[in-house]
Amino acid sequence: MNKPLQVIKFGGTSVGSASCIKNVIEIIRAATRESYVVVVVSAMCGVTNSLIDVIAQCEAGNSRAVAAIFSELRARHNAVVGKLIKSDVDRTTISRKLESVFEDGERWCQATLSREFTSVARDYISALGERLCAPLLAAALKQSGIASKAIEATELIVTDAHPGNADPVASKTRERCEAHLLPLLQQGIIPVVTGFIGATSEGVLTTLGRGGSDYSATILGAALNANEVVIWTDVDGMLTADPRLVAEARTITEISYQEATTLAYFGAKVLHPKTLCPVMQSGIPLWIRNSFAPELPGTKITSTGFADCGEVTALSAISEASTIALRGPAILRAHEVIGRALTATASVRLDVLLAFSSSTQGEINLAVAPSIAKPIVEALQQEFANEIERESLDPIEVGQTVAIVTAVGRNLLALNGTLERVFAALVRERLNMIAYVKGKSEYNISFVIEKRDLQAVLRTMHQEFRLGREDFATTSNQRYFVEDVA
Ligand code: ADP
Ligand code: ASP
Ligand code: MG
Repeated sequence: MNKPLQVIKFGGTSVGSASCIKNVIEIIRAATRESYVVVVVSAMCGVTNSLIDVIAQCEAGNSRAVAAIFSELRARHNAVVGKLIKSDVDRTTISRKLESVFEDGERWCQATLSREFTSVARDYISALGERLCAPLLAAALKQSGIASKAIEATELIVTDAHPGNADPVASKTRERCEAHLLPLLQQGIIPVVTGFIGATSEGVLTTLGRGGSDYSATILGAALNANEVVIWTDVDGMLTADPRLVAEARTITEISYQEATTLAYFGAKVLHPKTLCPVMQSGIPLWIRNSFAPELPGTKITSTGFADCGEVTALSAISEASTIALRGPAILRAHEVIGRALTATASVRLDVLLAFSSSTQGEINLAVAPSIAKPIVEALQQEFANEIERESLDPIEVGQTVAIVTAVGRNLLALNGTLERVFAALVRERLNMIAYVKGKSEYNISFVIEKRDLQAVLRTMHQEFRLGREDFATTSNQRYFVEDVA
């Protein structure tokens, strides 16, 4: 191999329409001038949500709604085929391919109508969007004179058997990637791989969690020992806050793996929280770039980041978290109770975002994603069945919904005054804080707040730490700095 190797991933908005796909083709064409390229692609935007709706409608026995969603999805994909694929032969081939994926999905739905989906069936239906998009993009590349081949990641990414939240088995994935992808690259063919999915070594399809195509890209990047991974999305890079909530948010030029991972874990949707795990050890850099503004350099994520940032690098937000209170005399042994709670939830692969004590004495609260609050309560009830029976713990149930804002930076805890500045700023703006939690590492402090205050708290903190400042030292790249200000 005489050129560097890039794995480039396109998110749902970047491939959301025929004109977006044309854009993406030019980005791929430009990348192939300098590098070998492996493309990873998500479903077109909105498609995975529709498929999840298919599952719900199917379980409810609503076959008409299922048919209506499939018909909408067919129309959307076929319209893009019509716009992009001019050759009759190629159009027939890709239309047949897409139809076979739709029929496959419909068969699974018919077999499961009015019954609860198994988690394997859920994964199978949620994955249809990527299985439609990869062949569509490969056909569009061929139409534009770029040799390419769609590949289902079930052939490449070997995972453990955790439906909905699978993790890769690195050694087997590496073997498969080398065997399937390197020969294509050597022949000048661009592999277009489905994001979001993998398969167990027995061949059962799994998914990597919502937003998991980012993770797919770094899994392939690590397996192929790529020179870099580029995540093409719909914003200029990783920003100092979610731009939908803070208009003054600025693009960070360079940030460390640790900080970016912490931001992603605490709600920065631009990256799946596990994205950086596969590339951290080998130090492969990851870029986040805007497919709608490819002239901008984006954000580079590296082991060191850019040393000269301020005390807070960025803020992330979780707009809704359910709280689960553990209260009763057993809480006197708080450390033991928290330890057991976290072990019990981790063993069923359910993430607790934060554990915090509230002002009420003898109470520990867990904050969790609302979608998994119920299974977490069940896991806790099982773990603490004895204590509940003996009344040393109250019955466990889902409590109020809160929001969480997390400040991420290097050495946050070593620098005095960060907390005090947040307290003072919130008091000044008459905003309440329910609790704050220092991270396990020095990288973050999280603030639990009322849901309705989210945007106000974010804006207040963004201003307090001057994250929108134009001369702020999150930039090591003058070219970008100048363009951004202009
Ligand atoms: P894709 O479909 O390309 O994977 P996502 O919608 O998953 O894109 O992620 C991109 C979105 O993440 C942005 O549109 C933005 O609203 C949101 N986001 C949240 N926090 C941040 C942040 N700190 N920096 C950049 N984007 C963020
Ligand atoms: N299509 C999947 C989702 O919507 C994966 C991804 O977009 O990364 O969650
Ligand atoms: Mg995403």
